[in-house]
Amino acid sequence: MAYALASRTSRLKSSAIRELLKITQQPEVISLAGGLPAPELFPIEALQKASDTVFRTHGPTALQYGPTEGVGALRARIAATQQFRALPEQVLVTTGSQQGLFLISQIMLDPGDLVVVESPSYLGALQTFDAHQAEYLIVQSDSQGVIPESLEEVLANAPKKPKFIYLIPNHQNPSGVTIEALRRSKIVEIAERHDVIIVEDDPYGALTFSGQTPPPLRAFSDTHVVYLGSFSKVFAPSLRVAYAIPPAGLFKYMVQVKQCMDLQTGNLPQLLALETFAELDFDTHLARLRATYGHRCEAMMASLEAHFPKGSTWTHPQGGMFVWVQLDSDVNTQELLDRAVEHKVAFVPGAPFCVDGGGKNAMRLNFSNVPPATIEEGVSRLANLIKAAVAATV
Ligand code: PMP
Repeated sequence: MAYALASRTSRLKSSAIRELLKITQQPEVISLAGGLPAPELFPIEALQKASDTVFRTHGPTALQYGPTEGVGALRARIAATQQFRALPEQVLVTTGSQQGLFLISQIMLDPGDLVVVESPSYLGALQTFDAHQAEYLIVQSDSQGVIPESLEEVLANAPKKPKFIYLIPNHQNPSGVTIEALRRSKIVEIAERHDVIIVEDDPYGALTFSGQTPPPLRAFSDTHVVYLGSFSKVFAPSLRVAYAIPPAGLFKYMVQVKQCMDLQTGNLPQLLALETFAELDFDTHLARLRATYGHRCEAMMASLEAHFPKGSTWTHPQGGMFVWVQLDSDVNTQELLDRAVEHKVAFVPGAPFCVDGGGKNAMRLNFSNVPPATIEEGVSRLANLIKAAVAATV
């Protein structure tokens, strides 16, 4: 039966990563694929105590319908803990920041509208923009993140005004690159001058290994930056609690679309997140996450150095969960993945992250989910497969 689907379904596709999750959940596979936090660092005890508190002190409220904007006390806590001035009424609690991406796409994008992205960029964002029939303009980046002069050029030469610029300024997914502090105000100045908003997706800003995370883009503009934050990486993805802090003029539209989608994010996970803050020494918890991921990233850097073929290059993340590796050969990483899975190791091939058609000999490696010795074993297995594939092509 040929169903009479909407034209927008023609651009829907399955996420390469979510498909891979099915494979990587097999216990014997070393997964350097998904963006999964370290399971042993989930604050299980604090969540358990928080859950008691939620039922004891919030009672039926935890189970009742609530406002679309979110639980008041959580909105206040979120507003008070940003690196920029925010008021509780500017905070919209969302069901994951993935929903924030969907809400902004729904209110901004008509078919054929332009979105400025990096290549590579976050797959789940591209999937959402694709589902809204967006077209892309590409801004160039280097090891210091997005290049302001490239953004200026893209906006000055755009065939029509882009609807927004999508950026992940801290420890980008998939590249692991952070936009250098001085570039940030320039990027916002350029966006404001061209009157194009920036969607600042920041799930990894709290995961800087050492030192300060540079100020968010939102700190430089109340009017042209939609900020998206998430508790997925600092508490647990399964809570599905995140938030958007949009400019005032966009807030009501995002709320209205959220009403259409899910009425509200559940009070229960919101209150759990709120009470977990009270149970946990949050700074100590974050310090553990940062130290563990920093250590694992070092292990990955050392393993790549020790095992990967000469000529391969990779990024040097200062936080987050990912490294982007570029091979110096024509090895197609999508094809390599099948062999890797046979050898019980998984990664994400580069191509799906790249709207410029690149990434075919690149890969994203995750270092947050497994301990250093397993990282070394996984990288070494991968390196052997790459060397065998290179040998087969010469
Ligand atoms: N943005 C980026 C850049 C991400 O990496 C992710 C998760 N992988 C998300 C958004 C979605 O996160 P959440 O769990 O908050 O929906």
